[in-house]
Amino acid sequence: MTDVTAMTATQIAGLVATGAASAVEVTQAHLDRIAAVDGRVNAFLHVDTEGALAAARDIDARRAAGEELGPLAGVPVAVKDVLTTKGVPTTVGSKILEGWRPPYDSTIVERLRAAGTVMLGKTNMDEFAMGSSTEYSAYGPSRNPWDTDRIPGGSGGGSAAALAAYEAPLAIGSDTGGSIRQPGAVTGTVGAKPTYGGTSRYGLVAFSSSLDTPGPCARTVLDAALLHAAIGGHDPRDSTSIPAPVPDVVAAAKLGATGDLSGVRLGIVTEFGGEGAEPGVTAAFNEAVATLTKLGAEIVEISCPHFRYALPAYYLIAPSECSSNLARFDGVRFGLRTGDDGNRSLEEVMSLTREAGFGPEVKRRIMLGTYALSSGYYDAYYGQAQKVRTLITRDFTAAFERVDALISPTTPFVAFPLGARTSDPYQMYLADLFTIPSNLYGGPGISVPCGLSDGLPVGLQVMAPTLADDRMYRVAAALESAVGTFTPPAL
Ligand code: GLN
Repeated sequence: MTDVTAMTATQIAGLVATGAASAVEVTQAHLDRIAAVDGRVNAFLHVDTEGALAAARDIDARRAAGEELGPLAGVPVAVKDVLTTKGVPTTVGSKILEGWRPPYDSTIVERLRAAGTVMLGKTNMDEFAMGSSTEYSAYGPSRNPWDTDRIPGGSGGGSAAALAAYEAPLAIGSDTGGSIRQPGAVTGTVGAKPTYGGTSRYGLVAFSSSLDTPGPCARTVLDAALLHAAIGGHDPRDSTSIPAPVPDVVAAAKLGATGDLSGVRLGIVTEFGGEGAEPGVTAAFNEAVATLTKLGAEIVEISCPHFRYALPAYYLIAPSECSSNLARFDGVRFGLRTGDDGNRSLEEVMSLTREAGFGPEVKRRIMLGTYALSSGYYDAYYGQAQKVRTLITRDFTAAFERVDALISPTTPFVAFPLGARTSDPYQMYLADLFTIPSNLYGGPGISVPCGLSDGLPVGLQVMAPTLADDRMYRVAAALESAVGTFTPPAL
């Protein structure tokens, strides 16, 4: 048997289904790979060796008993540490939740288990999913397998790095402003943000509730679609969950893989052109556009005049929601408690706990949000940002009357060196220039590798109308069929 860690999820599932490999063998191979390389990558905050092997044994027993198993049975998956896992540490990359073992599984994790996947562990992330490099993790940054002196993106850099380092064939991320797509782009992997409400937020530690969207990460478009299908769909425990089935993303990925895009109209956002993206990214994107044309797609330029206000609107809306959501971390109910010596007031203990437990970026967001929501400023900042959000949504709606999907580079720049953007928050925020608009609108977006710039991966983003997630998979799979997948130099 060739090394299973080099295989796609689809191939691994095939091996397990036919009995050519056991889920235990597959799991052990990935655990061995993690042991061999994760010291250099730091993709994992917690490896659940015992839990993974127990889950794998269960799959093998069920297969032996003749049970019908799902299309991902026996496939290992890495889960971003933003999702609760029963009895397994969940830190959100923060000291404030260090040592917390949730008493319940998030819906996504519950569905992963039901699908027969094997959870290897929890992946590193920027604290509370705020960041674009994992450098804001309280547990040290993850590193990009393409060049370990560079960032793997963020906030879900651990999930993307685990895929690119062949530590896991599948991973889960969460995308509030780009945290699935941007890490995918800079690691040469695939990351999809589903339609908001298409994947459950139950058990997802909240950052910005009107934007947070869990979703699939993989090394191929078809694998991402299979994972999307396994985790998506209505959840009565999430009040913003959409009561509709997930579109057939797997069929769409298979259709796309035939490499035929005739009849598909794709729009390039004029406002993204020229401005923002570095030359190597623009060159790779333009080449991908030429490829899409060869595959039969019709390309048109589309103006979305309000997209240029997306980043500032996001940095009012997301911090506002975070300042409210993070109020629950007070040292009383769970996680860290500091300074409770019996003499201090409750307020003092809360304040000391939050001072010690939150990192500088999280504090910055809480302060920004508290300010934007405060009386006298509410209309000028938060209210104004909400109006901009409506205008951006209208841009999308108008665009989708003319085209099936929009395309752009996923990020303005390739993976940057560790430390290059930590001293200026704005430089870090720019990483999500092209991904934030679809979060504000709520529609799906995917990043698929489209080429290299100076030996580093570049991603192409496909954005589709809400509830038309299948469209983006078709386009992404077609591009993948033409340009192939991207493997980093051996670690
Ligand atoms: N980088 C963006 C931020 O820091 C997006 C994060 C995310 O999608 N979770 O807010």
